[in-house]
Amino acid sequence: MNAGPRPVRAARGTELTARSWATEAPLRMLQNNLDPEVAERPDDLVVYGGTGKAVRDWNCFDAIIRELRNLAEDETLLVQSGKPVGVLRTHEWAPRVLIANSNLVGDWATWPEFRKLESQGLTMYGQMTAGSWIYIGTQGILQGTYETFAAVAQKRFGGTLAGTLTVTAGLGGMGGAQPLAVTMNEGVALVVEVDRERAQRRVETRYLDEIADDLDDAISRVLSAKADRRALSVGVIGNAAEVLPELLRRGVAVDVVTDQTSAHDPLAYLPKGVTVEEWADYAAAKPEEFTTRARESMAEHVAAMVGFQDAGAEVFDYGNSIRGEAQLGGYERAFDFPGFVPAYIRPLFCEGKGPFRWAALSGDPEDIAKTDRAILELFPENAQLARWIKMAGERVAFQGLPSRICWLGYGERHLAGLKFNEMVASGELSAPIVIGRDHLDCGSVASPYRETEAMADGSDAIADWPLLNALINTASGATWVSLHHGGGVGIGRSIHAGQVTVADGTELAAKKLERVLTNDPAMGVLRHVDAGYDRASSVATAHSLPIPTAQS
Ligand code: NAD
Repeated sequence: MNAGPRPVRAARGTELTARSWATEAPLRMLQNNLDPEVAERPDDLVVYGGTGKAVRDWNCFDAIIRELRNLAEDETLLVQSGKPVGVLRTHEWAPRVLIANSNLVGDWATWPEFRKLESQGLTMYGQMTAGSWIYIGTQGILQGTYETFAAVAQKRFGGTLAGTLTVTAGLGGMGGAQPLAVTMNEGVALVVEVDRERAQRRVETRYLDEIADDLDDAISRVLSAKADRRALSVGVIGNAAEVLPELLRRGVAVDVVTDQTSAHDPLAYLPKGVTVEEWADYAAAKPEEFTTRARESMAEHVAAMVGFQDAGAEVFDYGNSIRGEAQLGGYERAFDFPGFVPAYIRPLFCEGKGPFRWAALSGDPEDIAKTDRAILELFPENAQLARWIKMAGERVAFQGLPSRICWLGYGERHLAGLKFNEMVASGELSAPIVIGRDHLDCGSVASPYRETEAMADGSDAIADWPLLNALINTASGATWVSLHHGGGVGIGRSIHAGQVTVADGTELAAKKLERVLTNDPAMGVLRHVDAGYDRASSVATAHSLPIPTAQS
């Protein structure tokens, strides 16, 4: 039995390798998460987001695949932080897989405690969609990033980033979406990345236009594109904790500043003075010392971001906890700039809107092209959605199984799910579709530095909502449901849930999809009604969504 790293790729086509599509789907999606085209470090089982893993180790991977192949339609596989721990008799409406990742009791929810338990082989870091098997490559975040930069453009620059310069850092699994999202909004991006290979990979997948020779070269390329109002993205190899202060010192005219280094995990942020080659050994040998140095560097990095804000730039935290880490590194003004959710995304959450996504289990890109057309037909009045779907079709290179993402809200998602199911049933699509979402969604996450930062009623840290979300999705017929801790912003800082449901063309699937894709976004509306957002209350009223405590 080969229990070590090996290339993994999901099967394509209509031949089942498991007993039903409800088990073939999680099986293919787990394999797809670890496809070298999709995962950032597949040999280490790391999918994205610093150390976000799909399964605990290669033995667990083999065991999960084995169980999924044998699982019956009235059985449920239990996965505890990437390890299969049981198969229990349930029923056909129950999820085929239930996943709990990285959860720790409150007082123990710290990185050192987590790492201790991880080194004992007791847990793993599941991030959000890494450990819940619905990561679809950088496209997954591209649409959210596109929406965010579109909102920045709307707020500050008359609806376009043309003629503006955005400076950011990090070209990893998530961060790699930034340059393309900026150029899709017609702007110029300068992205700092310490690891040349990561930058190179983004050029190869067409997310980044070019890599500059050095900082002088980068500055001259971006400033000339900005002057010409020409969309361009330029990567520069360097440490953000050095490059951003230097850009500030030189007085480069920067309009927007953010960051997507893996700051949520201080061992995944490279401190100044450490090389990429030294990184892994140093972090493993001296985690405390490395953490201190990383936080000191983040303090310098964030101080430069605040400096740009003082100079008039639009500055925001892009959900990686860099403000919290910089504060721990001794920088007092770290929270002077806002997180992106309260700044741009919350109004969408009030409508139950969030990152709806789907993948074609056939592996055939034509299936996604057909679903794209179906989305355009279903929501003809939504111009922003149409612009995205068209651009995505033209500019997004698929990684692994072909997939698509778009933001849909309460009252919309189930229509898409039912339509795709009909298309599978009629044979228009060549194989079933899986429909899921990021955990960064309207009603599935408690994360006071990100999705629930600055809630109107102060309920930022109330974590009952993601638990209710996982429970209602389980009760509604999702195919697999996951409940995680620590994704996005790190251990101790978030609790979140995910669901994936299969459209296999059956009537039963239609019933499940209708409920899951109604109830899941309904949680977003309910959560925001409860927090006192008027927009959410009007959405609830418009859709006759009952609110038990509302005055009649
Ligand atoms: P990743 O680990 O794949 O990539 C991080 C990149 O940062 C790496 O390429 C690394 O080389 C680079 N880096 C590290 N230290 C650096 C430094 N000092 N200077 C320059 N580059 C440096 O992570 P990812 O998947 O791209 O995620 C990035 C961050 O965004 C994470 O903290 C993640 O939790 C967070 N995140 C945000 C969202 C969102 O919606 N905004 C969603 C998910 C995750």
